[in-house]
Amino acid sequence: MATVIPTPPITTLPVAGSSDRFPVRRVYCVGRNYAAHAREMGGDPTREPPFFFMKPADALQVVPEGQTVEHPYPPKTQNYHFEIELVVALAKGGKNIPVEQALDHVFGYAVGLDMTRRDLQDEAKQLRRSWELGKAADFSGPVGPLHPASTVGHPAKGAISLFVDGAVRQKADLSDMIWSVAEQIAYLSSYFELAPGDVIFAGTPEGVGAVTQGQVMTGAIEGLGEIKLRVV
Ligand code: MN
Repeated sequence: MATVIPTPPITTLPVAGSSDRFPVRRVYCVGRNYAAHAREMGGDPTREPPFFFMKPADALQVVPEGQTVEHPYPPKTQNYHFEIELVVALAKGGKNIPVEQALDHVFGYAVGLDMTRRDLQDEAKQLRRSWELGKAADFSGPVGPLHPASTVGHPAKGAISLFVDGAVRQKADLSDMIWSVAEQIAYLSSYFELAPGDVIFAGTPEGVGAVTQGQVMTGAIEGLGEIKLRVV
């Protein structure tokens, strides 16, 4: 089939221990999924239903194993924040997926960052506008290699942490999540038909903060390795 312009490339993520890659369809992100982070953002940490927003699939930035990649500081912000997150990649889709079956849909897990132009997000909140300018910047979703659930299982506990220039800035445990990965998948699938290739950023713990050019961010999740990015 001829296309009238070149077909845009599909974002693919590396798979740990394999030369095969994971093609990305959609990127869902959950907001306020750790109680202490909900409080620091002025929210209510009680178990109100999760909420979601999206990033464009081509806003993901692939971070290969063992490399420090350059992460471009985006335009139009003076307050660019890191948010360390567990990333979940789906191998199977569906609608109205029961919680008890949800983890069967997962291909694997990775370390990710939900980079945020916080000043633009705050302005959008005040003006009751959508969050794209804050959340969907180019390169705003760095992700490390995917670790297949067939090798690492389904991590429900373990340290999740973010360092800037070697100093710890976020440190929590996956077990602190208000909504589990299975609950997130079940809930999302009641609103959207999920499909293979969908990716979920599972929310960030407390301690989010700003980075500036020249700083190095290191994100780590127990069992999933780490990613390293220099802000340029
Ligand atoms: Mn986030």
